[in-house]
Amino acid sequence: MIAGNIEILAPAKINLYLSIKRKRQDGYHELETVMQKINLADRVTLTRVDSGISLRCVQGQNGALTDCSVPGDETNLAYRAASVFFAEAGCDGGVTISLEKNIPVAAGLGGGSSDAAAVLSGLSHLFPEKVSYKKMLELGGTLGADVPFFVDSSAAVLASGIGDVLQPITPLDRCWIVLVNPGFPVSTKWVYDNFALTSGDNPYTLGANFFLNKKLDWFSAMSADLARCSVASLYNDLEMVTEGKYPEIAQCKQRLIEGGADIVLMSGSGPTVFGIFSSEQKAQESHDKCKEKYAAVFLCQPISFQNS
Ligand code: ATP
Repeated sequence: MIAGNIEILAPAKINLYLSIKRKRQDGYHELETVMQKINLADRVTLTRVDSGISLRCVQGQNGALTDCSVPGDETNLAYRAASVFFAEAGCDGGVTISLEKNIPVAAGLGGGSSDAAAVLSGLSHLFPEKVSYKKMLELGGTLGADVPFFVDSSAAVLASGIGDVLQPITPLDRCWIVLVNPGFPVSTKWVYDNFALTSGDNPYTLGANFFLNKKLDWFSAMSADLARCSVASLYNDLEMVTEGKYPEIAQCKQRLIEGGADIVLMSGSGPTVFGIFSSEQKAQESHDKCKEKYAAVFLCQPISFQNS
């Protein structure tokens, strides 16, 4: 057996824009979203062994404590990723997975999906030529709609379909992001189940208005690609669902606005809210202030390069 281990950082994402288009007959929602990887990351260490899959999950030093724990068994997405990899590869061999969780769980930051993608990518290094890159994307899609984005090397994409059709775009650059997680989990399924499609335009455009009125100049200085797909409508359709149930989300946003954020929005199905700052100092000050009130607050930056 060839020995080997590999350590991979599994980054979180934020959704800079999320628009629900329609509900399909099979229950999935078609959407359009801009996803940006950020440098808050879980640490995934894989060690090649003779057979079997085992998983050890620990809370990272800066890990966010929410009251939703990560499953330590075969339902963990990292474990499931290894399972589908070996089924596809059809080879002898196994892996021990060590997962250091830094990304808050059930937070709209894609942590589980990113862990799964890191396991697929890591295993393809430990067991070269067993599973093609194209197959890895396919396997990722069977685990979760966001997994292919994390398997993909792009730092930012415009995703459509059910989130599986990816178009790389120029990532954010030169800005600071403050993440505020109010400390409770939100079920993505619950949010989608409670999202009602209307026949007209979605009336909820607070995020867009806030941004368009105040900060257009800074935003237009960002990449042309990103500006083209989101400047007219920087908002998150799911925000009204999650915020409707949890007023804390509006409070988190308000704090970030008061702290000088250029853009404030909920990520994915929430409840994590992010503020994007063009000033590092303001971001640091806002981070420190939010930390006085919330347990899970992070100062991070976008990943602004495409991995090779
Ligand atoms: P999504 O929007 O894809 O549902 P999220 O970013 O809101 O994801 P995750 O942190 O991925 O949330 O967790 C979603 C659910 O998946 C949680 O209920 C959690 O218990 C379960 N889960 C399974 N594996 C993992 C993992 N490796 N890390 C985090 N959560 C996991």
